[in-house]
Amino acid sequence: MTRLFASLALALLFVPAADAAQTAPERLAEAVRFRTVSYQDRSLIDYGEFARLHAYLRQAFPLTFARLEVETVSDYSLLLRWPGSDPGLPPVLFTAHMDVVPIEPGTEGDWQQPPFAGVIADGRIYGRGTLDDKQGVMGLLEATEALLAQGFVPERTLVLAFGHDEEISGGDGARALADVMAERGWHFTWMVDEGGMLLQDNPLLPGRESALINIAEKGYLTLTLVARGEGGHSSRPPAISTIGRLSAALSRIENNPFPAHLVEPVEAMLSAVAPYAEQPERFVFSNLWLTGGMVARQMSESRLTKSYVQTTTALTMFNAGIKENVVPQQAEAKVNFRLLPGQTFESVIDRITELVDDPEIEIRHENWNQIPPVAQYPGGGYDVIARAIGTVYPDAVVLPGLLTATTDTRHYIDVADNLYRFHGMMVAADQASSIHGTGEYISVESYQNMIAITRSMLRFAAAP
Ligand SMILES: [Zn+2]
Repeated sequence: MTRLFASLALALLFVPAADAAQTAPERLAEAVRFRTVSYQDRSLIDYGEFARLHAYLRQAFPLTFARLEVETVSDYSLLLRWPGSDPGLPPVLFTAHMDVVPIEPGTEGDWQQPPFAGVIADGRIYGRGTLDDKQGVMGLLEATEALLAQGFVPERTLVLAFGHDEEISGGDGARALADVMAERGWHFTWMVDEGGMLLQDNPLLPGRESALINIAEKGYLTLTLVARGEGGHSSRPPAISTIGRLSAALSRIENNPFPAHLVEPVEAMLSAVAPYAEQPERFVFSNLWLTGGMVARQMSESRLTKSYVQTTTALTMFNAGIKENVVPQQAEAKVNFRLLPGQTFESVIDRITELVDDPEIEIRHENWNQIPPVAQYPGGGYDVIARAIGTVYPDAVVLPGLLTATTDTRHYIDVADNLYRFHGMMVAADQASSIHGTGEYISVESYQNMIAITRSMLRFAAAP
């Protein structure tokens, strides 16, 4: 704790004096300059950058940090509580994360602007974290600061929680934030995290803007398969090697994918698209009771859409052998599964055990997080978010959906009844690969609109 104190004091020295003339895009650009990079190997993380970012936030948003109850949790995560005038109303939670993924070595030169320079040019704010997820953190703080300046008083309590290690599982940040909330008996009627956005060119809705509010996400499970057997000199090899045994099991797993079917959030999305779609899609999506099987089959045939209709199987690691003339006594592989809502971890393990069907292969798993339940739709927080989107993009088609990745949301399952995923930035199809990739940017206009949506969202959520 003393060490943290010292680093905070040090950090303060290095933060330039608050520039009253800074605009919201400039503040986001500034936030990008703090290299709050998460590495799988936590010893590589520069935690001082998080402390310096906190110090900057305190001076950039003086009303917010003075009037809300602010705490640092697990050293580098932030928890801000804005008490409502009616303590009888269940609170609402808004989350985002301060960490970003590293730049893949060798790709720095491919960026239009250096990833941590925080450059504003050509109507864009460039840099790592401008879409994932510093715009989320800064957007919430900008909206809060603006509402405080207007004298806004929420009736319902609002809470903002910013984790610091979402990109490496949230085990230190979101996990600790959720534990603090649970200890205090805070229980949220709904929450909204990253994981949904506005799309400029949704392939299902050509020529229209759409907003995706994800009401569910997939589960995450990695199984480790270990084959043990006779090793020894390769001049006298065993009939079946550990490598051969494990390879055979893995190919059985890969050749037997989980069956495709439409789950509730995907059905809800297609049904919501139907009124705006052309024929024959309009008929197909309006009659999923009849066409659902065919739609699921077709979606499972494309790599782009398969993850919406299947629990997916990915062989991700294989380790065996230390020398070319030695047969290894052990071979190990990892298989990563992303589970559709409704599928249980136990059912995946049962199916894989059956497919492997080999007592010489051990199947191990680590502890898993629960899978968030499908959130209320329509109604509840979904309607509040949709209404806020409408204040800025009245013509956007708002759609519920399934997030095929995972977020910090899963840590909050026990403290929130309904979990949604949406941050209000508008993203073009060609920007999608920049998230965790090269050339990440947000347009200045999209960022300003995002702040406006967030302001409406906080206001609407705060009403009884
Ligand atoms: Zn993220």
